[in-house]
Amino acid sequence: FLLIMALLLSSIAVIFYWNWFSARVSTDTLIQNGLKRKEFVPYYQVVIDCRTGQVVGQEMLVRWRRLDGVLVHPNQFIPYAEDSGLILPITEHLLEQVYLDLPQLKGWVSVNIIAQHLEAGLLSKWLLSHQDVRVKRISFELTERKPITEFELALAEISAASPLCHGFKLDDFGTGFGGFSYLHQLGINSIKIDKMFIDTIGTEDLKGAVLDAIIAFGHESNMDMVAEGVETQVQVDYLAAKGVYLHQGYFYAEPLPLDKLIHFYNNSPH
Ligand code: C2E
Ligand code: MG
Ligand code: MG
Ligand code: MG
Repeated sequence: FLLIMALLLSSIAVIFYWNWFSARVSTDTLIQNGLKRKEFVPYYQVVIDCRTGQVVGQEMLVRWRRLDGVLVHPNQFIPYAEDSGLILPITEHLLEQVYLDLPQLKGWVSVNIIAQHLEAGLLSKWLLSHQDVRVKRISFELTERKPITEFELALAEISAASPLCHGFKLDDFGTGFGGFSYLHQLGINSIKIDKMFIDTIGTEDLKGAVLDAIIAFGHESNMDMVAEGVETQVQVDYLAAKGVYLHQGYFYAEPLPLDKLIHFYNNSPH
């Protein structure tokens, strides 16, 4: 009986592993094919100075526009691309697209990266091979959701890339691993306050106290602050009263493809 049980359990394990393995392999193949066909396209979400209503810059957010017309959002494929390392060629492809779009963009444009990009030295290499004034308008958003494993390499890359571009921001601030110590050790002086905290404005949520603490810390240490996920007038007013003027969110605009972004520029009051 024990032998039968053991056989049964191991065959179940093999089947599970095989399913997981083939799902993995086919996702990687799909992503690789998508890259070959240039299906990864940049969308842009504006960042607005709420005092003037002016566009100061935008965040590039990737969309996977598949051959069948389906638009796939990053949360559905970026985690796979990060695990397989395919995020590196995807980012390189997106940087080339941003480079071409830059003459039509207002202000700066930020590109999302994870620690892997820094550890691979990808950014300074790319920036050095594009020595044109326009790359000085590209900045990078490093998420704090993923830990940095090779700290020295990451630090060296930030130091090498910073003078060649518009600088680095710590993304999803308050939700992850590094927090205050990353900012200090990596020499980053710009933060994106995560939507999770903006959502607490006007509610009884205890995380509201964390938002106020983040803002106070930001002012105290002279951080540039961008609030993300701003959806309501109440949030705009609260943030402005606290001295946080750079806003990104559906209240102003969703992430847009280049043609719609230009339409937005031309039809916004400034
Ligand atoms: P993120 O960097 O924190 O980007 C903000 C996300 O919040 C975007 O989702 C944006 O569309 C969404 N958002 C902005 N304003 C609002 C709002 O007012 N309300 C709500 N409900 N959502 C809002 P998106 O485009 O789906 O991207 C999700 C995440 O995927 C990004 O989070 C970023 O971490 C990652 N990502 C996107 N593009 C890239 C990329 O090219 N490379 C890497 N490594 N990651 C990327
Ligand atoms: Mg971001
Ligand atoms: Mg963010
Ligand atoms: Mg976020």
